[in-house]
Amino acid sequence: MIRKVKGIINKYNLLDRRDKIVVALSGGKDSTSVLYILKKLGYNVSGLMIDLKLGKWSEIHLKKMKKFCSDLGVHLEVVDLREELGSGICFIKQVVRERKGLTGCSVCGIIKKYILNKWAKKMGADKIVTGHNLDDECQNVLMNFLKGNVKIGANSGPKMKAQKGFVQRIKPLFFISENEIRKFAKKMKFDICYEKCPCAFGTYRVETRKWMKNFSDKEKKKIVEGWLRVAEGLDSGDVRVCNICGEPSRKEVCKACEVLGCLR
Ligand code: AMP
Ligand code: ZN
Repeated sequence: MIRKVKGIINKYNLLDRRDKIVVALSGGKDSTSVLYILKKLGYNVSGLMIDLKLGKWSEIHLKKMKKFCSDLGVHLEVVDLREELGSGICFIKQVVRERKGLTGCSVCGIIKKYILNKWAKKMGADKIVTGHNLDDECQNVLMNFLKGNVKIGANSGPKMKAQKGFVQRIKPLFFISENEIRKFAKKMKFDICYEKCPCAFGTYRVETRKWMKNFSDKEKKKIVEGWLRVAEGLDSGDVRVCNICGEPSRKEVCKACEVLGCLR
């Protein structure tokens, strides 16, 4: 698998040896594996983890990641969601569902992206690496297709376009299936949690995952590659500054402020 990741990095020109790379760590198998592989390949990596304050689940993930990073000799920055936004993720999701009608993993995704970008900038990062894998990407394609979201595809792919205010997001596991990553993490005996997020139930993503259950890795790869060819010709739009928080945004108010506005 290390050879495969190296191949993807080279083929898509994802990283430079001089880059300061921040790996976004959830504590799961994907981000842990990508951190380990990049470190072994000799890249300049640090970890960044958002403590979502999901009770014991977050506590265990955080403890295990602290130990993992310390053993690997990697600096880990931890962002406390309560200090950052005033509440844990469950409360935020509940309020946003009540007041904005937004459900599922989308709220969590918007908040994570906002905090990761803000903190990666503070850490002086050139690139943010996430652990998104082939299964995640195939789900994204199918979900966007079914919702008629074509524009979102403009920034898909293993390497986000470089845009002012955004630290470039990179996905070295883009073409590697979840099964393969799980096997790798288990073979390496990584002391991490393998369970899915306890909040991810009854969501569109979970339904899509079930639908994909019988797809082979080859089929998933075909779907994602086909979408990438379509996305190549799409425009992701201009970037401006959010009127509320000053972070980069495609609209007058960024998605995070739009979502979090109902908490204020
Ligand atoms: P998910 O949205 O949970 O499927 O996670 C996708 C990717 O986002 C992971 O592979 C990580 O790189 C990153 N990520 C998820 N949760 C966190 C977190 N709590 N802190 C930092 N990065 C995260
Ligand atoms: Zn904002």
